[in-house]
Amino acid sequence: MAKRDYYEVLGVSKGATKEEIKKGYRKLAVQYHPDRNPGNKEAEDKFKEATEAYEVLSDDQKRQIYDQYGFAGLEGMGGGGGGYSHAYSDFQDIFGNAGFDFESIFGSFFGGGRSSRSSGAARNQGANLRYDLEISFKDAVYGTKTEIQFTHNETCSVCHGTGGADGAKKKTCATCHGTGQIRRSSGFFSMAQTCPTCQGEGSTIDNPCRNCGGTGLEKKKRKIVVTIPPGIDDGKRIAIPQQGDAGRNGGPAGDLYIFIHVKPHPRFERSGQDLYCAVPVSITQAALGAEIMIQSLDEKKIKIRIPAGIQHGKLLRVKEEGVPVNGTSRKGDLYIKIIVRVPQKLSSKAKQLLDEVSRIEGENTSPEPILLSELEN
Ligand SMILES: [Zn+2]
Ligand SMILES: [Zn+2]
Repeated sequence: MAKRDYYEVLGVSKGATKEEIKKGYRKLAVQYHPDRNPGNKEAEDKFKEATEAYEVLSDDQKRQIYDQYGFAGLEGMGGGGGGYSHAYSDFQDIFGNAGFDFESIFGSFFGGGRSSRSSGAARNQGANLRYDLEISFKDAVYGTKTEIQFTHNETCSVCHGTGGADGAKKKTCATCHGTGQIRRSSGFFSMAQTCPTCQGEGSTIDNPCRNCGGTGLEKKKRKIVVTIPPGIDDGKRIAIPQQGDAGRNGGPAGDLYIFIHVKPHPRFERSGQDLYCAVPVSITQAALGAEIMIQSLDEKKIKIRIPAGIQHGKLLRVKEEGVPVNGTSRKGDLYIKIIVRVPQKLSSKAKQLLDEVSRIEGENTSPEPILLSELEN
């Protein structure tokens, strides 16, 4: 496959400033990042292409060589088609400067800890965890407290996180000198790789703890009570700080994210802060008007006045019987759709009376068709 010009890839001009190059790359990186496009080969290729272009154009020396000699000038320097570990670790810088929230952009924070290895604390941070919680429709509307049980890594209770048996201490890894990475360099390129000796830990241990195998962590079951605020919607998540996996070597614990799934209700639906339901009425109730009692979502009896002559499909609003707005005294409304039910069986007496009505009122035997949409509301 023919390579595209690096400037073209980033959508910038030949004379682009560093800032413009950074901007161009940031845009593409956000769009095509593999974490946002799992399993999408095309996005991955685009991401790699952009990263490669950025690696060259953001480096004065490489950019100069590229400007002068093109791709050929860079050949044999180890660039091109390689991994993107270098640029990846630069994300924090790129996005940090732009006021971006690195984690929120990539959502890469489930299970794997942080991708950036720019600081020891981030490297030692425990993974964030996900817990899927199904709640009833009613609990989502009015809020509730519920106990959940989950498993996460805690600091090993035998070695207290040191990873060593009988007080054995970790030693700084001799291969990477504690950085957890080794750098392979060829030409101008220098690529970071996870240290094969310590698997990125930065340390090794001669006599590992038998309880945790030297990781300093052990799986523990935990129960906590989660407060579900009123008005929460399907798909929302609640963060429980520090309840993810414990950090390594004294690093901070990750967070636990509760993903909310709301079960459908047999009689009510929701749209934002409003609730919707349908209520059947008879033709005489619709024609003459009526007062009916319906049960609200919280099992309250609500009196509804049906005005005489109401049409099928009309929506009646009951103020403030909807979903509470969390943290305020406000509530959405309840909308009741009127369904006029035509009797399918009539007693001879009822039939006789309706015949009478028909005669008095007269029947239109050649009605004009009207638009379907006119029936709404
Ligand atoms: Zn241990
Ligand atoms: Zn190492």
